[in-house]
Amino acid sequence: MTAPVKLPIVGEVKMKEISKEELLAFWSGVLKKTGMKINLNERMETITRTDSGFIVKTAKQSYETRAVLLAIGRRGTPRKLGVPGEELPKVVYSLIDPEQYRNLRVLVVGGGDSALEAAIAIAEQPGTTVAISYRSEAFGRGKPKNRERLQALESQGRIEVLLKSTVKLIEHDKVHLEQNGQAIELANDGIIVCAGGILPTPFLKEIGVMVETKFGTA
Ligand SMILES: Cc1cc2nc3c(=O)[nH]c(=O)nc-3n(C[C@H](O)[C@H](O)[C@H](O)COP(=O)(O)OP(=O)(O)OC[C@H]3O[C@@H](n4cnc5c(N)ncnc54)[C@H](O)[C@@H]3O)c2cc1C
Repeated sequence: MTAPVKLPIVGEVKMKEISKEELLAFWSGVLKKTGMKINLNERMETITRTDSGFIVKTAKQSYETRAVLLAIGRRGTPRKLGVPGEELPKVVYSLIDPEQYRNLRVLVVGGGDSALEAAIAIAEQPGTTVAISYRSEAFGRGKPKNRERLQALESQGRIEVLLKSTVKLIEHDKVHLEQNGQAIELANDGIIVCAGGILPTPFLKEIGVMVETKFGTA
């Protein structure tokens, strides 16, 4: 039998509600204490079973290993809008730093927590003009706290909410939408698409992981 691996204790964690910055500082502390090595920017592409374990092939190299712990999340590859102009560099699929949008005109697309949190964080930056476009008629999926904050910012005129709307065309300094059959044109410097992800289900099936769908679609 293999001897159990002794892991360093990194401290008791009791977190209720903390900011992203505090959470990142916590995880950075864990990395420092454990000395764990992370190979960043390295996408895992395939996992192949061998007699003694697995070969994990990434975009950079191959690893031979006895076991694989998959922690690839459920978000998958970001879903694209599929509209002309989407390839412009001003279109991104996640919000990294709200400060980069200071004094800019931004459109957030989507209706889940990612979209709501992005729109809120950007609207809280000085000088931003923020609109959020969602194809449904209400934000039913977001956390109540996010929906309330969005409503407050909308009533303060900090966020323009465009429900039942879809993006049609993206240009360098504009974006064209349609809402209830009406064409809308917004002056625009940046677009954040938070339209969910395409799940890695085929990949998981290929490597032998069975996915059981209880709610929604896989
Ligand atoms: C906007 C938003 C707000 C949230 N707020 C909260 C909150 O307040 N409280 C809470 O508890 N939870 C919250 N969540 C949920 C929380 O983020 C998730 O539950 C958590 O991140 C899941 O962790 P994970 O490690 O399973 O997956 P993830 O955090 O998704 O991490 C998976 C990682 O694997 C990487 N990856 C994927 N495929 C590959 C591949 N082929 N090769 C290499 N790397 C790969 C991804 O890039 C990613 O870094 C929120 C989620 C969102 C989107």
